[in-house]
Formats: sequence, structure tokens, C-alpha cells
Amino acid sequence: MKKIAFFTLGCKANQAQTELIKSRYGVRGARIVDFREQADVYVINTCTVTEDADRKSRQAIRRAIRQNPKAKVIVTGCYAKLEKSNLIELFPQIMIQDFSSLAPRPSYPPPRIRANIMIQDGCEHFCSYCIVPHARGKIKSKPLEQIMEEANRLVEAGAKEIVLTGINLGTYEFNLAAAIFRLSSIKNLYRIRLSSLEPMYITKELINAVAGTPKACQHLHIPLQSGDNSILSAMNRNYTRDKYLDLIHYIRSQMPDCGITTDILVGFPGEGENEFQNTIDLINQIRFSRLHIFSFSPRKGTPAAEMPNQIDPKVKKERSEILHKLRAKYMTEFASRYLSKEIEILVEQNGEGLTENYIRIIYSGKENDIGKLHKLTIKEVKEDFCLAK
Ligand code: SF4
Repeated sequence: MKKIAFFTLGCKANQAQTELIKSRYGVRGARIVDFREQADVYVINTCTVTEDADRKSRQAIRRAIRQNPKAKVIVTGCYAKLEKSNLIELFPQIMIQDFSSLAPRPSYPPPRIRANIMIQDGCEHFCSYCIVPHARGKIKSKPLEQIMEEANRLVEAGAKEIVLTGINLGTYEFNLAAAIFRLSSIKNLYRIRLSSLEPMYITKELINAVAGTPKACQHLHIPLQSGDNSILSAMNRNYTRDKYLDLIHYIRSQMPDCGITTDILVGFPGEGENEFQNTIDLINQIRFSRLHIFSFSPRKGTPAAEMPNQIDPKVKKERSEILHKLRAKYMTEFASRYLSKEIEILVEQNGEGLTENYIRIIYSGKENDIGKLHKLTIKEVKEDFCLAK
């Protein structure tokens, strides 16, 4: 039996796409092995969101070739799409393939407790720092019936939580709220989670759907990027700090326990001390349950790469460190609300699971707990997880 290994870089949409490719190879009877092993076929799903992602994509290709020079190396994803000819020139032995990300899943989904379904592809927003719209193109959405079919197959194969993902999920064209309602009718599906949603595409109808559907996880990941209006405008983000704050207030009025997580892009061109302080101030007001911090790196082909007032890498590093301290502070603060209280987790692996509002819980569990909902009491709060009994 042939051995096949996968490597995925980048976002949840890419992970969903890799799962889809894996299920296809499963159908054909190949054995999936670890990427560090010698395989007959390597599939590398690349990312191009930053130049660092490009570098890591090339590194993975090099590694696959080194591990087995005779292997078939298939390269897909955003970087492969944008830099096809450069990649072929660098690595003449690779094959570049475009797997249609919205194709229906075949009848052999991999058994996973939390499974992604990619329901939307493409982005037409063109944030000034982002190359993704060039790689992914126009918005495409998966019809509701197709999502239901795929979700039913995943649940039959053992999935208990479905994560709806997309490149710009909020632009899903067939009504995201309706997708949540439909999915909630699936027996044996415990949870429905939404992956990242850009604030400019979140509607009250969607928030009400999450709040009013017991199976929908009260967790929303809403990239803020900056808390300064002039920087947000230079980023072409189409919202102000007040609009973002209004959105958070509305979410919390409907779901006081909602875990609200975000992305911050630190060191965007023109971000002086005042602008950075505005970001800190907004983080302090909102007290996110988790922050993902990225340092701006100029991406060739985007307007932000050509902007004046690029920030010194040393300053970016210092600011990033300040934000990491805030991350730790608010993560522990959020989880501490539940200290000594009973919470419910979905067990994803032996002794580990997530609450619906995205707190990772570690406990001494048994193997046959996997896929079950458990009520536990939080005993200790650590930075990235809690210990429970
Ligand atoms: S919304 Fe902005 S950051 Fe997100 S994919 Fe589109 S252009 Fe990139």
C-alpha cells in the first residue's frame, strides 16, 4: 500500500481543504503517514499570507524532496497558485495541483471529533496588507444542501462538532444563520462552531442565531487588527474602533459568556506610539478571551508594502511583547470566572477537551471518553489551559 504524507500551512480553510484531500486518498486506499516519515507521495498545502509563510512553504517542499527524492511531491494552496512558475523553476520535480476547495466530500471522511467544513472561498475585500484576494479570487459559497450532506457524513464517521470555515466566512452567500439552524437538526451532532468572522460582515441576525441555537458555540473570533482609526482606514478595514466596540457590546448583551477572540496586526506602517496606545486601550476595554498577535511584514504585491513609515523590526518586537503580556492577563482573567465552577467540555483526545467558549481543559481522562460531553469543575487556571476534575 502506498504511503502518503500531508503538510498544511495557514488558516482553518487550508486545514479543511487538506482534510478533504486526505479523505479522497483514503478512498483510494493509500496509508496516511506522518510528514516526517518517508512516503511515496507528499502533499503540501501552502500559504502566502506573509513572506514567512512563503518561506515555510518552500522549506516543507525541500524537506519532502530530501526525505524521499523519488517521491511524488504535490504542492497546492495559495502560494502555489500565486507563484506557480517560480516554484516550478525552483523545484522542477514538483507537481502543482489545484484542488477545488468547495468540492463535496467523498464518502470516507477521516474520523475526527471536531471537523471543519469549508463553506466559502474567496475574498473581495482587499485589506491593504493582504495578498489572499489575489490568490483566492472571487467569493464562492457552498449550497446549504451540500453542507448538510457533508455534515451528515462527518457525524456518521464520528464527528461531534462541526466548524464552518471560509476565507471570508461572513460573506457566505446563502445565509450563515440559516446554515446554523439547519445543522442544529442533525442528531448526534453536539456543537456547531464558526471560524474567524471579519467584523464588517457580522450581522445582528447572525449573532441572534448563535445566541438562540443551543448547539451553536458561544465563541466568536473577530479580527480587530488595530484599535486606531487612522490605521484601520489605511488597512482598508471599513470599520472604526467605536463600531467594533458596539459590535462587542451587542454580542455580550446577547451572550454574556461568549468567548471573544481576535487577531492583532502590530507594527503596520504609520503605527506610532499614539496609534499603538489606542490598540492597547481597546484591548483593555474589551478584555478578549484570547489574542493572536502577528507582526506586520510587507507582502510584495500589496499596497501596504509600498507605504511610507514602515516600522523598525525592533519596535515591532517590543510592541508584540507588550501585547503578549496582555494576552496572558486577559486569557487567565476570562478562564478564572469559571474557577471552582462546573463547565461542560467536549472530549477531543484522552484527558483533553474544549468548552464551547474555547477554553482548553486538561483532566485525567479515560480513552473511552473521547467524543463525549463531560461536566467537570475547574481547579486551576493556567495561561493556555485549565486543569479540571
Ligand atoms: S478580509 Fe482582508 S484580511 Fe481577510 S482575506 Fe480578505 S483581504 Fe485578507
